[in-house]
Amino acid sequence: MTVVKDTGQRAILPPFGEEHEELRETVRRFVQKEIAPNVDEWEEAREFPLELYGRCAELGFLGLKFPEEYGGQGGTHLHDAVWVEELARSGGSGGVAAGLNAHASIAMPPIFNFGTEEQKQRWLVPGIAGKKIGALGITEPGAGSDVAGITTFAKKVDGGYVVNGSKTFITNGVRADFLVCACKTTQEGGHGGISFLVLEREMPGYEVAAKLEKLGWHASDTGELSFTDVEVPEENLLGEENEGFKLIMANFAWERLLMAIGAVGAMQRLIERAVEYAKERKAFGRPIGNFQVIRHKVAEMATQAEAAKAVTYNALRLFHEGQNCLQEVTIAKLVTQRGVLDIADECLQIHGGYGYMREYGIERAVRDARLGPIGGGTDEIMKEILGKQLGL
Ligand SMILES: Cc1cc2nc3c(=O)[nH]c(=O)nc-3n(C[C@H](O)[C@H](O)[C@H](O)COP(=O)(O)OP(=O)(O)OC[C@H]3O[C@@H](n4cnc5c(N)ncnc54)[C@H](O)[C@@H]3O)c2cc1C
Repeated sequence: MTVVKDTGQRAILPPFGEEHEELRETVRRFVQKEIAPNVDEWEEAREFPLELYGRCAELGFLGLKFPEEYGGQGGTHLHDAVWVEELARSGGSGGVAAGLNAHASIAMPPIFNFGTEEQKQRWLVPGIAGKKIGALGITEPGAGSDVAGITTFAKKVDGGYVVNGSKTFITNGVRADFLVCACKTTQEGGHGGISFLVLEREMPGYEVAAKLEKLGWHASDTGELSFTDVEVPEENLLGEENEGFKLIMANFAWERLLMAIGAVGAMQRLIERAVEYAKERKAFGRPIGNFQVIRHKVAEMATQAEAAKAVTYNALRLFHEGQNCLQEVTIAKLVTQRGVLDIADECLQIHGGYGYMREYGIERAVRDARLGPIGGGTDEIMKEILGKQLGL
């Protein structure tokens, strides 16, 4: 029998099943009640309260994919995907989603995947409990797309490392208690000379140099960090020395997929808003949705969103099955990040002048969506990866 759920789709779409849809409804209720009403205030404040991590932890959302022995829910990436999609669909703030997910889905996975038992106890357990906040530090003022070109240097000394350098555009960079940080550990650096160290905020020489002002994602903090002779003990080395590039690549797959899933949720929200407005708003004596050009615009938005969802769910299914899905994830990121920007822009157009006004939240969607083709690897880099995958 086909199970019909009130989730905006006629039947549950693979790879999701009944339990994921139950989680979806729980997340939706929480986001609608405890996040959405506060978004304007948090955007204005340029951050959401730290207590939100604790609240999400209490409800189990920060640990969905982590084992119960570390305080997680013992679920899979599919549970995390539901959380991310629904947060984007019902929350309406790229900044809130970015701040929560940079911690739960970008900074913590390398600790779980590559950390020792002791490291998991130090950062994963309090991270899942929402008591310590994490960030991932790869990008530097002089190296973004060219990840191998980072220059932050960790000099090997007795008992550990001394780190000098800087990181920029780091989501949660201001509030993070710990930073999963890419450093050069050989003079040459590059693919065979990068390692990950966990830097902690209270370490002498670790400084938050700036909280950056930006176009969108206003409710998340984005920090610039500087490191001057930061002494990092060897027990803070994550994974093998000089094998950090593997960790970067492992992380990118999930980060890009999450961005695609978030965009799928945001597209759904924008289309619903466009339809609602087109039914309400009258011009020339009738609802604007009666104009063929508006109906066609919405139809095109829905077509684009459905295609993006199909591509993304397929990549998610392959990822969940442990298959090599570099090509599919890359395509999903490319399709969805431009797609949600286009759809947000069309939704704004349908709202006319009201779309341009802050209170409707559509201008925020456009600003937030603009990061997609840049963050987590730019569209140009995605096309490079894809071209190479296709044998060129
Ligand atoms: C709000 C925000 C949050 C972020 N959060 C984080 C975070 O938490 N952690 C983190 O480590 N980073 C983070 N980033 C950084 C983000 O991942 C980088 O901005 C991104 O990887 C691009 O790097 P870049 O900005 O240095 O651009 P550049 O690498 O300087 O690229 C500039 C332009 O040149 C193009 N280009 C570069 N190389 C090539 C090439 N080989 N072929 C064709 N075109 C090329 C790019 O596509 C782009 O259009 C964040 C960025 C922002 C804006």
